[in-house]
Amino acid sequence: MQHQRVKKVVIAGGGTAGWLAAAALSKQLGALIDIELVESDAIGTVGVGESTIPTICSFHALLGIDEAEFMRATQATFKLGIEFENWGRDGDRYVHGFGHLGKANWMAEFHQFWLHAKSLGFGGDIGEYCLETQALNARKFATSEKPGLNYAYHLDATRYAQFLRGQCEGRGVKRTEGKIREVRTHSESGYIESLLLEDGREVAGDLFIDCTGFRALLIEDTLKCGFEDWSHWLPTDSAFAVQSELVGPARPNTRAIARSAGWRWQIPLQSRMGNGMVFCSDYQSDDEARAQFLEEIDGEPLFDPRLIRYRAGRRKKVWEKNCIALGLASGFVEPLESTSIHLIMIGITRLMQLFPFDGITPSLQARFNQQSRDELEKVRDFVVLHYKLTEREDTEFWRYCRHMQVPASLEERIALFRESAQVHRTADELFRTDSWVQVMLGQRLTPETYHPMGRLMSEAQLRQALQALQGNIQRAVAELPAHQQFVDTYCRAERPEPA
Ligand SMILES: Cc1cc2nc3c(=O)[nH]c(=O)nc-3n(C[C@H](O)[C@H](O)[C@H](O)COP(=O)(O)OP(=O)(O)OC[C@H]3O[C@@H](n4cnc5c(N)ncnc54)[C@H](O)[C@@H]3O)c2cc1C
Repeated sequence: MQHQRVKKVVIAGGGTAGWLAAAALSKQLGALIDIELVESDAIGTVGVGESTIPTICSFHALLGIDEAEFMRATQATFKLGIEFENWGRDGDRYVHGFGHLGKANWMAEFHQFWLHAKSLGFGGDIGEYCLETQALNARKFATSEKPGLNYAYHLDATRYAQFLRGQCEGRGVKRTEGKIREVRTHSESGYIESLLLEDGREVAGDLFIDCTGFRALLIEDTLKCGFEDWSHWLPTDSAFAVQSELVGPARPNTRAIARSAGWRWQIPLQSRMGNGMVFCSDYQSDDEARAQFLEEIDGEPLFDPRLIRYRAGRRKKVWEKNCIALGLASGFVEPLESTSIHLIMIGITRLMQLFPFDGITPSLQARFNQQSRDELEKVRDFVVLHYKLTEREDTEFWRYCRHMQVPASLEERIALFRESAQVHRTADELFRTDSWVQVMLGQRLTPETYHPMGRLMSEAQLRQALQALQGNIQRAVAELPAHQQFVDTYCRAERPEPA
């Protein structure tokens, strides 16, 4: 069974994970494999997952997606970063922008020079050296042929799955609607042989991709891979989500506003606002959270908020026997840095690179599992950082976060920055040095010392260099159109029918 050639792939689940997998596999490998996707209209999808990070642009390029067409179809807007409010202390604000900070040299990152300037009493805010952050603050945006702004999108999750389904048309992906009742396995090898649907139809294949969301029907219910729980580091376990009428022009950023037992998000689309509140049920009841959430929504909610439960953690193996889990079935780190769709995309890319055309081997599986684990652990550390670095003591939830033990890997990074302003980052890591710096400084982690490179410049030289960088950014931002204006001319969507 292990060395059986893979000719047919069955994708279980038609949410963002399932349709992204179908779109990418059919585009790149469609000539070599048959693909069938099974989804249940009765069960539906999780319906959230609307904020993304810039890697989505290169994945779309791989799929040959036309940007303006995609944006019209999904009511999308542009995203230049995330605005964090109340995280370090109540009333604080900082931006994690998608761009680079200032200008580094080979020996020292830009923030080392900036720290020296701050010790001399000038230099302003670190965000003044990031083009994306300044454009975000001014609510401006444009795409450009030359290397311009780094950006991602806010999109409608349901429309995105439909759009991806459309991309599969004409590429031979077979869609089967029906509820999976049973996953049938080989009596000796335990390999999955077929999915039995409630109406008696059976869908057989060689390789199965589990995209059934939190249900994890194949990888967990059937293959019992086990789950490593991270809720002691990421204690939120619930979210309310609701859409509301859009009030005013759409900002080019997600907002993440810390609340008493978690945080709430605002994700602006062309036609509506996506709102959510993530909270920890140990510290806040559903009723309290719901009331707090609804009280703070701008614009009329379009329906009753939905409650979603989750658990932070990872599936111990995401490739087991002839099953690979993607999306929520593979694990979940809460949406604070909008990483889940990226993780799906990187999982699909890895699958295409390691695809077991000539049969599944233990070494391919081990490689896939190890890379997936490394990646998710690094994303986890970055998200935990936001909670750990709070100075808030005003609620039990924030006191817990501030004083909790964190993974050793993160503890080392925090100590390194605190003691020397250095950021440790491995080559294949998602979040760049500048992302770590923006969050650590934004949450008041002040380094005790910094690299002496800045001291080699005279004060006047340093002042002049920083002013030149700020000036270049200000001039570039002044030339950009308003974000809403750019969206209206570039990719204005039809207004949807009222829900
Ligand atoms: C509160 C919250 C906020 C989030 N925000 C973001 C964000 O801003 N950015 C981001 O990148 N990610 C975010 N995510 C994650 C994101 O929603 C998911 O990664 C993404 O939607 C992919 O989901 P999925 O396809 O794995 O699962 P789902 O959308 O749940 O799809 C599961 C599919 O499996 C099918 N299925 C299940 N059981 C059966 C069965 N028995 N028979 C047949 N079919 C079945 C369902 O019908 C459905 O088609 C968020 C998640 C949560 C919980």
